[in-house]
Formats: sequence, C-alpha cells, structure tokens
Amino acid sequence: RPEAVFEALRYPLGDAGTLVLFRDVSRLRQLEQVRQDFVANVSHELRSPLTVIQGFLENLLDGPLGQDEEVGPQLRLMEEQGKRMQSLVENLLSLARIESAEPDPQRCETVFVAQMVERARESLMTSIVEKRLSLHLDLEFGLALWAEPLDIHSIVQNLLENAVKYTPSGRDIHVRWTAGDGRLMLSVRDTGDGISREHLQRVTERFYRVDKGRSRRVGGTGLGLSIVRHTAERYAGSLRVRSEVGKGSEFTVLFPMDLARRGNYWQDDEEA
Ligand code: ADP
Repeated sequence: RPEAVFEALRYPLGDAGTLVLFRDVSRLRQLEQVRQDFVANVSHELRSPLTVIQGFLENLLDGPLGQDEEVGPQLRLMEEQGKRMQSLVENLLSLARIESAEPDPQRCETVFVAQMVERARESLMTSIVEKRLSLHLDLEFGLALWAEPLDIHSIVQNLLENAVKYTPSGRDIHVRWTAGDGRLMLSVRDTGDGISREHLQRVTERFYRVDKGRSRRVGGTGLGLSIVRHTAERYAGSLRVRSEVGKGSEFTVLFPMDLARRGNYWQDDEEA
C-alpha cells in the first residue's frame, strides 16, 4: 500500500547482529489524524456561537439590566464563564494547530522575542500592578528567532501569565532572553509557591492542574504549559522546568541556534 507507514524497532543481539521488527502504524496514524481534526473542527465551530453569546451579554451588561441588583451579578458570572470557555476554545485550537504540522515557512519571520515580552507585559499590566509584582527583564533586544510570530507569542504569553498568576503579591519575576551554550534560551523565573516533584513531571500534560480548586479560582485551562512544550518541540526545541516548593519555579524554553537572527529591534518596531 503506498500510504502505509511503518515503524522500525531495533533489538541488538550482540554477535548475532540486530533484529529489526517492522510494525504497521498506518491505522494508528490515521486515527490520530482523525482525533486531531475532530478537536480542531469542534473548537472552530464553537468559536462563532460563543462570540455571539458574549456580544449580547456585553450589551445586556451595558444596559439597565447590568445595574440590576439581582440580574447584574448573574450576567457578570455568565460573562466570566463565557470568557473561560472562549480561552479554552482558543487554547484547543492552538494545540490542534501546533500538533498538526511543522512551522509553516511562509508564515515564519524574524521575531524579536523582547518585543513579545513587552507585549505580554502590557497585556498583564493590570494584574502586575494590582499584585505589586516586580518584573525584572534581562533581554537581548537585537536577538531574534526565525519562527511563526503566533507561536512565540503563545510561549511568552503563557509563561508570563502563569508567573503572574502563581506568584503571591509583592514578589519578583525574572525574564531572560539570551544565547549561550549553542542554544537560544528564554527563561521565566518566579518566586511563587513552586511545584512539588510528583506534579512537576506532569504539569505539561494536557488539562493537568496541580491544585484544581486554586487553579479554578485563578482561572486558566490547564493547557498553557502543554502548548508551550508542543510549540517548542515544533521548532526542535524543548521546555525545561525547575521548581522548589516555597521558593519558586523556572521555566526555560531552549531553541536550536540555527533559528537565531540578529537585527535592529527598534527599527523593526517602528516599521511595525
Ligand atoms: P493553567 O491554565 O491551569 O495555568 P498550565 O498548563 O499553564 O495551566 O499549568 C498547569 C498547572 O501547573 C497549573 O494549573 C498550576 O497548578 C501549575 N503551574 C503552572 N505554572 C506555574 C508557576 N509558575 N508556579 C506554580 N505552579 C504553576
């Protein structure tokens, strides 16, 4: 069959040579594709009705009903939960997108990571100010990555959002973007509660959350770190997590050096 896909399993037998077994994984691949397409399609179909519902809810909230003592809080709760559902759908779409293919060369461009960090910081400014967090940035402004901008945005946004969410008020967050040891490195280090060893291995699994009750309170979908890891792997990179309970966590995304580009960040910024 021309479409058949085989996986080779090698067993070294010492002097007798090597035993090679071929396994037909065509059906498995096919099913995997069906699952991926299904998730992508469902997420996509959910997007439009959700946008409509959220739109009308906003209108209601802006009107007299929004001020109503009894109905107002209920509408706000509906809007809040709707937003949660929207971010779940967006995250599922991101996952489906990054699972399905390698980076699209047509979409790749010189992405200034420092710029993405600035953008993420701005989007989180309300929480940063409210929680009096100190954000320390150590960024190589001229160092860029050859990548799809959306991918780098989701890595930076997810890591920074988590650091802000899981760090108590008044503490520090450090973000570093640099090249060294033949790799490109983006690290987000917080001084939050940390993650215990048993959970650490599992935090990048889809929908995995350490403390369900607490996570629900701070919001989120349990998909963020899974997206970060899959996106990094899409570029032959990786995600490294270090954490100590009571001290904090450090999430480091490593990219291969051949993705590095140098440029004038400020000039590019003006053009944009
Ligand atoms: P979520 O949307 O719940 O934040 P993630 O996939 O981003 O989903 O994270 C998975 C879980 O890992 C979170 O629910 C949280 O328990 C834990 N976690 C993630 N980032 C941090 C962090 N910086 N400090 C402590 N715990 C974290």
